Amino acid sequence: MNEIDEEGVKDDHHITSIIEDHERICWGCGLRLLLATDSPVFKCGWCGAISTQIRIRKPDSACFSRWRRTRDRFFVAILLLFMSFVICAGVWAVYPTVFSISYFCGIFHSSITAILSLITISSFCLAAFKSAGAPVSVTWGSYPVVGKNGLENFTFCTYCEKPKPPRAHHCRSCRMCILDMDHHCPFIGNCVGAANHRHFIIFLISIVIGCFYAVMMCSYTVFHVWPPQLESSASTDTSAVSRMLKEVLTGIASSVLLLSVRGLVLLYLSFACLSVDIGITVLLWQQLYYIYEGKTYIAHISSQNSGNGGCQNILRFFNCPYWAFRFFLIPTNTAKFQESSSKFL
Ligand SMILES: [Zn+2]
Ligand SMILES: [Zn+2]
Ligand SMILES: [Zn+2]
Repeated sequence: MNEIDEEGVKDDHHITSIIEDHERICWGCGLRLLLATDSPVFKCGWCGAISTQIRIRKPDSACFSRWRRTRDRFFVAILLLFMSFVICAGVWAVYPTVFSISYFCGIFHSSITAILSLITISSFCLAAFKSAGAPVSVTWGSYPVVGKNGLENFTFCTYCEKPKPPRAHHCRSCRMCILDMDHHCPFIGNCVGAANHRHFIIFLISIVIGCFYAVMMCSYTVFHVWPPQLESSASTDTSAVSRMLKEVLTGIASSVLLLSVRGLVLLYLSFACLSVDIGITVLLWQQLYYIYEGKTYIAHISSQNSGNGGCQNILRFFNCPYWAFRFFLIPTNTAKFQESSSKFL
């Protein structure tokens, strides 16, 4: 518009051509918009939809989509098998020793294993098989139907060819837009988004605790089973030659025990669980840091805090009750707390 005012001396025909050049149609409400400049990005003053240079992308090839689906299903199957193996093999290899100590000890550790297994598998299933957060369908395309600010800050997804809400992203593996998308995780075969992010974090926490518990129990069983045999065999000998012979035989027997199925299972579980624990702890720490910072995901967190970090983001993420905010937040955060907690009341 400014350009037209400054160049008012030009003839009407030339002005008309400039207007036509800067005329665009809003994809959200279908109104014809007159722009001041020839900007490729503009926002509709009526419905609030943001338009960019829209070019409809070609859908992914069937081969590409099939490869991604197969990869996701493969990883999900591997992870389910691994979790089942750790639980079943761990119980088989460790629990005879645990129950040999005392009946109460066996029941106590059985309860811990059952609780950890239940939380891990249920949170995995919720994270993997629950929708990560599909946007609600909105009416768009015609002016009388789309109301004022009806598509505020919506953009147009050129894959789905549908309106895309703010902070939503399109995932080519899931072939849909995901609200507050964090990332697509091949190990759960699903996106991590607004609807399943909490289940994903609970799954990571339960994996970290479960693997640490498995490493502790396997290590305890290994040290509980083998050393007494060495001591008992060595303590009964008197002569040096027979003691040395007995130690050699005991060493061979210990090696055979270590190479037994139970010994191999215990060793494998110890190293596998330790490796998984280290890797998942790093991932969990990164995820919790993002939650603390209130960025990259969960629309209401980032919008309410304007990118400010703080413990209130963690509490809000886990849907903690009001008293938790009063209890955990330090006095220096009082102002921030009052601002955020008022939205919970
Ligand atoms: Zn519009
Ligand atoms: Zn999309
Ligand atoms: Zn996805």
